[in-house]
Amino acid sequence: MPSITANVGDGATNKTHDVALVQAMLRIVKNAKGSPYLAGSYDGSYGGQTKSAIISFQKDNAKVIQAGQKAKEKEGVVDVGGTTLATLAAALPATHKELRIIPNTKTVYLEAASADATASAAAIRGDAEFEATFKTNLAALVDTMFAEYKIALWLTPTGRRRTFAQQAAETKTFAGPGESNHNFGRAADIGFKGFRWIQGDGSIKKDADWLNALHSASASKENALWDARDALAAKIPLFRLNFERVHLQLFDQATFNNPRSLVKLLNTVGKAKWESGYKSDFGLGGAMSPVGTAKQIWAGNATVSKADLAKALSAKTKKVIKEADIKLQQIIDTQKALKADFEAADTNWIKWVKVL
Ligand SMILES: [Zn+2]
Repeated sequence: MPSITANVGDGATNKTHDVALVQAMLRIVKNAKGSPYLAGSYDGSYGGQTKSAIISFQKDNAKVIQAGQKAKEKEGVVDVGGTTLATLAAALPATHKELRIIPNTKTVYLEAASADATASAAAIRGDAEFEATFKTNLAALVDTMFAEYKIALWLTPTGRRRTFAQQAAETKTFAGPGESNHNFGRAADIGFKGFRWIQGDGSIKKDADWLNALHSASASKENALWDARDALAAKIPLFRLNFERVHLQLFDQATFNNPRSLVKLLNTVGKAKWESGYKSDFGLGGAMSPVGTAKQIWAGNATVSKADLAKALSAKTKKVIKEADIKLQQIIDTQKALKADFEAADTNWIKWVKVL
């Protein structure tokens, strides 16, 4: 049954979320003439229209309300645990029984099925491609979100670990292969599963993972829901990114640098020596040369110049090797070797450690 945290009505506490919930109920429930008690949209602001709607409902249901009363409610006031609220709840249609709202938000929604939250948490705990602490924390968030708010969070279709190849195919990110926390099982995109919220007119809108429909209705209402998720996540802890609301990760982004962390992993599991800025010795133990971006290296297009390769080979062999001596095939083989180090990093994603 829908519940309020403080009373609503004339001279009452009128917390935004309590007002919104009572208004939504008065918008949904209809009088004998088939009209909703509240004509406008519910908005969480208490005013004259809400006052009239409460009084009309109380008058129309006076017998039921008075019969059930232990403590007398004032006319025009909906008390916590009072019979006005219980009578209003009983009058809700079957489709709208499980109304709910998060404190300090304005969006009334329908409770999710517990089976959805349970299945979501189990899928995360059973995912072999998440790092152990991360998946424990992420599943704990799913459990907490349902326990606190009866909302089911779940992984979006592309929200799990992303291989380097999958990262290379991503178009909506600047992060190249090995440069996203998703590549190392320490990040997830986790949204709202089948979130059903109540529109201003009392009708139900079913939203998808990213709450795009709610965003279209009100960006601030959408943000308030993500903020509620992130407030629970912060206690676990899990960390958000400022530019991607659906995303959560194991570490605070301010505590590490993705390309430098990738370089550390390349040095751990690869054959060549690597330095930040993607410089490599080509596995020859000599001078370091810039070899392009993560995207270029992964694509087999590392920027290996004949001059740099000649210099590195000279250092390795202690003989003078000129640029003109370098064959195209040597460049191609070097590009393949550099890509092979990235492949080793992809395979050994679990060994990633953060570097600032
Ligand atoms: Zn993400």
